[in-house]
Parts: sequence; C-alpha cells; structure tokens
Amino acid sequence: MSKKISLRNRFIQTILKVKAMTWLYDSHIHLSDPYYEYDLNHTIKGMENMNIKACCVSMDNITSKRTLELGRNSKLVLPFIGIHPERANDDLDLMINLISENQQHISGIGEIGLDPTYVKSNEDNNRQIFLFESLLSLAEKFQKPISIHSRKSLDEIFSIITSYDIKHMLLHWFDGSKKQLQKAMDMDFFVSYGPVLIYANDKQMLLSKTSEAKILVETDGPVKFSKCFEMKSGQISFIPSVVFCASKILGKSYDEMASLLEENSKSFLRI
Ligand SMILES: [Zn+2]
Repeated sequence: MSKKISLRNRFIQTILKVKAMTWLYDSHIHLSDPYYEYDLNHTIKGMENMNIKACCVSMDNITSKRTLELGRNSKLVLPFIGIHPERANDDLDLMINLISENQQHISGIGEIGLDPTYVKSNEDNNRQIFLFESLLSLAEKFQKPISIHSRKSLDEIFSIITSYDIKHMLLHWFDGSKKQLQKAMDMDFFVSYGPVLIYANDKQMLLSKTSEAKILVETDGPVKFSKCFEMKSGQISFIPSVVFCASKILGKSYDEMASLLEENSKSFLRI
C-alpha cells in the first residue's frame, strides 16, 4: 500500500472514531451559580476534553440571565431557565418575558417545582403552586423540556402535571418510593440520579427498577456530597463515576451505559 493511501486510511479511521464518540450529559447542574464563576473556563475546557454537555438550570431571573450568557458562549451549555420553588417570590412577569423572548435559545425550563421546606404559610404554598403552574403553561406553549424539583412533593406534582401536555419531563434527583417511581414511569417521566448513587443503597435499588429508557445522570452542582466525596461540591467531572456506577448496577459495560444515556438525554432534550 502506498504511503499516501495508508495516511488517507488513517485519516478516515480518525474521523470515524470522532464521529462515533459518545457524548455524556449532566442533566442538571447550576453552572450559573456564583460558585463556578471563578474557574468557569477550566470547567468548560474540562467538558470539551471529557465530551460532556450540561443542562445548565437556573434559580431565578438573575441566574437565568447568566445561564443564557453561558449558553451563548459555549455550545456545550444547554440553557434551562426558570424560577426554583425556593425563590418563589422572584418576579414571575419578568421570567415570563425572559422565556418568551429567548424561547428559541433555551433547551428547556427549570429548575421549577414544589417544595414544602420553603413554605411557611398558606400564602407561600399558593404562590409556589401558582408559579409552578404558570411555568408549566409556558413549557406546554413552547413545547420545552422541564427540569423538576420534587422534594417532598412528588404526589402533588403528579396530580398537577396531568393537566398539561408536556412530553419531556425530568424529575431531577429522584428521591421517591418504589411506588412513586412506578407512577413516574407510567406517566413517562425521565428520572435522574447523581453522585449519591455511588454510596446510597436506596438510590441503587431505585435505579435498578427504573425503565432503562428513562434514566439520566446529573451532578446538581454546586450541591455538596458526603461520604467518598468528602463534602466537595458537585463537579461535571463526577459524571463518569456516576455512569460507571450505573453500569455496574445494570450489568452493562461502561460504553453500553454511556450510549444508553446519550440516547436518553437526546430523547429528553428532543435533539
Ligand atoms: Zn438543582
């Protein structure tokens, strides 16, 4: 074989390899949190090197604007904007405008949901529900995926969501019972598991009972993780460990697990 042809073959093989490379997705991380600001370039470089894209969720109007900026600066950042139940008193009208004006640039709406931890009165409760329902209406209107915070509120979320026609819904950091997981599967939700999967038996059991096509992984950074993570904040670089752990639980190779998660992530994101 001439030198020219063998070089050409090597070039084609390299291209095929690049083409076949699997993308991992962190389905829920707050890169717009000030925690990441200092070494954001380092984080983005790391994402390029590890072939990881991130659904960057937001807490309120300020972090949503930051998320949009991050999305403009890197195609690896997939922007989700919205108001978290902890910030239920943030300006809803401003958020409705922000979503409407940027609906072509956002990958989804989130982090939205319900959480009684932040409710001190009836009024707080009504405000959280009103906010959640308003943002669900926008997700329905623009056909956007949603990233849902469901701490201690899964059953209420199940009952509210039946009134909306939203097909791509993620219950991030799934923490329900086996029965609630079954209900989530019946209702076609995606559920995501994070670094806790590595050390918590109950999460490993839940993962083993989740429909394979509905599993996603996340870090929820900058949340801090205990045990083997020694109270470090979630980093995108934790994702391969979560994927490895999931592959062991489901009896798959790492590559099989990564491909499955890539398919699932694309299906969630409608890409
Ligand atoms: Zn979160």
